[in-house]
Amino acid sequence: MIAQFTVAGDGLAYDICIVGGGTVGLAIAAALENAKLRVCVLEAGGRWQTKRSQELYHGIVADPLVHPPVQNFRIRALGGSSRAWGGRCVPFDSIDFQKREWVCNSGWPITYETLLPYYRRAHEVIEVGSYDYDPTSALPGSRVELFEGVDGDLFRTRLERFSRPTNVWKRLSGLLRTSRHIHIWLNAAATGIRLAPNGRCVHHIDCVDLKGTKREVTACHYIVAAGGFETTRLLLASNDVMPAGIGNARDQLGRFYMAHLGGTVGALKLPNAQQAVAFGYERDAAGIYCRRRLSLTERAQREHCLLNQIFRTHLPDPADPSHNDPILSAMYLVKRTFLPKHLRGRLQHSMTLDEKLAHVQNVVSSPVRLGRFGLRWMANRTFARRKLPSIVLGPRANVVNLEFHSEQEPNPASRLTLVSERDRLGMPKLRVDWKTTSNDLQSIARAYRLLGWKLEKIGATISGFEPGHVIEMADKSGAMDGHHLGTTRMSASPTDGVVDAECRVHGLMNLHIAGGSVLATSSQANPTLTILALGLRLADRLRR
Ligand SMILES: Cc1cc2nc3c(=O)[nH]c(=O)nc-3n(C[C@H](O)[C@H](O)[C@H](O)COP(=O)(O)OP(=O)(O)OC[C@H]3O[C@@H](n4cnc5c(N)ncnc54)[C@H](O)[C@@H]3O)c2cc1C
Repeated sequence: MIAQFTVAGDGLAYDICIVGGGTVGLAIAAALENAKLRVCVLEAGGRWQTKRSQELYHGIVADPLVHPPVQNFRIRALGGSSRAWGGRCVPFDSIDFQKREWVCNSGWPITYETLLPYYRRAHEVIEVGSYDYDPTSALPGSRVELFEGVDGDLFRTRLERFSRPTNVWKRLSGLLRTSRHIHIWLNAAATGIRLAPNGRCVHHIDCVDLKGTKREVTACHYIVAAGGFETTRLLLASNDVMPAGIGNARDQLGRFYMAHLGGTVGALKLPNAQQAVAFGYERDAAGIYCRRRLSLTERAQREHCLLNQIFRTHLPDPADPSHNDPILSAMYLVKRTFLPKHLRGRLQHSMTLDEKLAHVQNVVSSPVRLGRFGLRWMANRTFARRKLPSIVLGPRANVVNLEFHSEQEPNPASRLTLVSERDRLGMPKLRVDWKTTSNDLQSIARAYRLLGWKLEKIGATISGFEPGHVIEMADKSGAMDGHHLGTTRMSASPTDGVVDAECRVHGLMNLHIAGGSVLATSSQANPTLTILALGLRLADRLRR
């Protein structure tokens, strides 16, 4: 059942209360549907995204040059950020869960094998086909390597798979709307987690609707799934019984904020790049879009003390009109003009009149090519049910641009805190102080050096791989948008984290967390598949 919070339900006492009807909150609710438990989902937003609701995500960023505004790259409405995500799916690697001496604060209390069955189930939720990231088996008969001759002890070509991209509400609404056990309350913003006086369990959740009417919701178990930032904010702000906030007895809450580092740096030239580089998307037997990426092997990470990182081929920087490409210029201008501001990210930088004119010149230079591309784009993207994930253009003059996506070392100084300013619901606003470590940047430079060495061995000419340049570019590119990780991290002991191996807040019997904030390390992988796997595992625990 789905209803506005102002409509009285048949009582507000449940077996399980989920705060947040976003990507993982809804997936958990659906997983509990046939458990005959009374479940409610408190969703702060409504059926559609509105400016007024989104405003409640505003906060303060310590350094706006390296981190986007707090309200960007997350959606406060039913379905959460899955309404806008890109759909790129990759699981964490086994090494990500291990204690690595060269990565401060690394190590999880669970292993990759613990999550494996749930990764498979997460695949079903977000429609990414079989759990197979090996190009040999997933794309039989097709080329294996990203660059011919590059795979070996140090690098290995793996796949990333792409969701439709699935909007989790659309995907699960059939089940959730008709469920007799699940109540979804819209416009029901949680404003406080209230503990019993002994501080050992949650007594109820304070909630407020659009008109400011307050209610208390009680349940046996509570799952906070409000997204990495809001979950942390809610725990920090719920400080009536525990003065430093819930789960913060050891000053761990809000610390270890990780995004990813990513950017377009470096290029290589191969005499026959069109044949030797597998740069495009391919579809597997089930029609799922897949693309190759170059991973660092476990051995390379251990021997060279590297953080986990991958490389992909990429387009030249679309913002720089000297690429002379009509498609890139058209895409850049259209996105800058029509994409909602809070999703523009790096497209937002100011453009000079000369640059504008150069882009327009590119666009008009080749109308036939642009027209053909436009028709293909509409067929494969605009009107397709499973969307082509992005524009891919073949190497021009045999030059291939590179993109990296890298793990961030968990750093206690990179953190979220509250400020005294409050939003209109009375919640203190969030301050985001995202920081990198020297290990973050040096590791990227070392990985580039290793790749450069390998590429030169296979006959490529490389440019832009100099350590100084890589570090400068990685530093400049800032936090990867929309990945809000680590601020209620998982740990075996309460001294170095907020939740235990079951995603339960240390020391509290009935409070659990689902979302990116529980990730203890960030891996090279985009986070949503892992967030879902952890959420589905939590649902399994609770139904038992
Ligand atoms: C543009 C964009 C592209 C992305 N692309 C990718 C990608 O390609 N691959 C990938 O892995 N990840 C991607 N991500 C990240 C991905 O969307 C998130 O990792 C994922 O959606 C997180 O799920 P979640 O359920 O934790 O948070 P959300 O989906 O954001 O859900 C949180 C929910 O909680 C609700 N809420 C918030 N506060 C409260 C409150 N106080 N009370 C009640 N409810 C509340 C919100 O309204 C929302 O519905 C992208 C994100 C964006 C924005």
